[in-house]
Amino acid sequence: MQWEFAYDSPKAIKELLAEKGFAPTKKFGQNFLLTESVRTEIVRLLTLSPNQHVIEIGPGLGALTTLLLKEKAHVTAFEIDRGFCEILREDAFGSHPNFTLIEGDAMRTLFSYLQSKERVDRICGNLPYNVGTTLVAKILESSYRPPVMLYTLQREVAERLAAEEQSSQWASLSLLAQMDYEVSIPLTISSGHFYPPPKVESSVVRFVLRKESRVPEALKTSFLLLVRETFGQRRKTIYNNIRRGKIGGMLPPEAIEQLFSTSGVDRQKRAEALSWEEFLALSSALDMLRASDTAGR
Ligand code: SAM
Repeated sequence: MQWEFAYDSPKAIKELLAEKGFAPTKKFGQNFLLTESVRTEIVRLLTLSPNQHVIEIGPGLGALTTLLLKEKAHVTAFEIDRGFCEILREDAFGSHPNFTLIEGDAMRTLFSYLQSKERVDRICGNLPYNVGTTLVAKILESSYRPPVMLYTLQREVAERLAAEEQSSQWASLSLLAQMDYEVSIPLTISSGHFYPPPKVESSVVRFVLRKESRVPEALKTSFLLLVRETFGQRRKTIYNNIRRGKIGGMLPPEAIEQLFSTSGVDRQKRAEALSWEEFLALSSALDMLRASDTAGR
């Protein structure tokens, strides 16, 4: 039998938790998405087809999960809260043939799961604020590339992920996200749509895999190294960040000079002023220098 629950009602949520002797905890960033039209829109944005394999991070009491299952997705949900896990397993979807629950901290369990899977079509989640950014960054740093991902995150983090090049929000996270994905913010959700209401606004960030990465595979190591280094201290010039960082320790001073002369990038700029083209020129120069440095040893 299909689990029916009044996910729109804070009263129903409170009563269910009270009946089980559980309560929402701040520690796990538990804010339930109350508005059905918003949840429906999130699922629509996932562009699902039947039988696709969907990972949901932080299902809570299953407000999104229930809609995903109605779309005939195979859902694997990662939830840390033992009480919620009990409800998901025993009351809500435990007997549903398309539902799998992985209990524990997704930061620990997600990557070994991904490693064991040949196919993951979607990753989604109304992510807890405390681990949301780290988790998304970890997924982007890994080699897993589901065709579509959709996360509800703190608005500022969403804006950094989707930032335009050289804008005030342009950060290492923007480059990491946009290297392989088209990133957009199709929806912003005010705090009144959640119970309990969080202190900040939330946005839905949508990642759609690009046909071709912006960064050639052979340049990725140098590119990621450069992005991390140049944004190290935002107020410093890229030259100072590079010279005092890992790259400075790896290459002799002449090679650092060459990095700028070969790429044609102005060393006095700050990372947030660099375009994609400039990051790629620096990556390609760094890659050549690293190769000749290794060959010369
Ligand atoms: N999906 C539900 C909704 O939209 O109403 C709940 C979203 S709530 C913002 C975040 C959920 O993530 C909570 O259920 C919380 O227990 C869970 N969570 C927090 N940290 C987690 C972690 N490290 N691993 C897995 N789940 C986590």
